[in-house]
Amino acid sequence: MVLEIVVMVKQVPDSQEVVIDPVTMNLNRSMTRNVTNRADENALEAALQIKDKVPANITIVSMGPPQAETTMIECLARGADRAVLVSDRAFGGADTYPTGLTVASAISKLDHFDIIIAGEESSDSSTGHVGPGVAEFLGIDQITYCSKIEFSDGRVTAERELEDGTEVVQCPTPVLVTMLLGSNFPRMQTLRRKIDATKKGIEVWNLEKLGLQPEWVGVRGSPTIVRRMQSIKERERAKKPVTLEAIPDMVKELYEKNILKVK
Ligand SMILES: Cc1cc2nc3c(=O)[nH]c(=O)nc-3n(C[C@H](O)[C@H](O)[C@H](O)COP(=O)(O)OP(=O)(O)OC[C@H]3O[C@@H](n4cnc5c(N)ncnc54)[C@H](O)[C@@H]3O)c2cc1C
Repeated sequence: MVLEIVVMVKQVPDSQEVVIDPVTMNLNRSMTRNVTNRADENALEAALQIKDKVPANITIVSMGPPQAETTMIECLARGADRAVLVSDRAFGGADTYPTGLTVASAISKLDHFDIIIAGEESSDSSTGHVGPGVAEFLGIDQITYCSKIEFSDGRVTAERELEDGTEVVQCPTPVLVTMLLGSNFPRMQTLRRKIDATKKGIEVWNLEKLGLQPEWVGVRGSPTIVRRMQSIKERERAKKPVTLEAIPDMVKELYEKNILKVK
């Protein structure tokens, strides 16, 4: 049996270069350098580690504009087998609800899937909604915030990091798992694979292929609207010159106000 693994990947603006369109209040993606969402690199590495042990196919699914192709090629160059970019003008401006619906619908069009792996959250909108949303739309189980996953005997065993410990969860497939940022060390792309990936290319699926209605997706299918955004001006901290002689009195004041404690 060959295990079918789907990895959900989002291309995000480099967090150092985020530009907001002052009129639409949307991210101006054309003004920024785009990179693969870091937690999704961990999701792909988790899939590759399963594939190191059992026969598996890894399919990357991403909803995004045509430039997301570079991220798909990068994932193929790291070891994924197939890449499907879901791209159509109708998907633009989607909030997390139609994003989940669209990605779930693309995954349901694949012949078969056993494990879906997503990142815990994206570095641009950071809601963490999309993975769980996809599981709900597909009606499958989910294990979120995982630091480690393994597959054997038709079951996924996952370690979830909690505030006060680690929870070990076991679940039969099909299941969706979200991986924590930094949960593993993503392997490098190889030049050979990059050349092969560029030659092979990626599949691009549009609204018609998914069979969804235009009013269900993109901005039309989004129940949330960003009304207003505001830049916050950082207040400069007041600087107070201090003499060495004043320090004992300042320490005493902090002690009296219960800010400093003496053991
Ligand atoms: C109120 C609101 C309004 C918004 N309006 C707009 C808007 O008008 N225009 C706009 O461009 N954006 C908008 N966004 C951003 C948009 O909702 C998100 O970019 C998108 O829905 C994904 O959500 P997220 O980034 O929070 O992903 P998260 O839920 O944080 O991502 C978790 C994981 O899901 C997977 N994933 C996420 N997105 C994708 C994807 N596209 N394809 C494949 N896998 C994916 C990845 O594995 C990722 O690690 C809005 C967001 C909010 C909260």
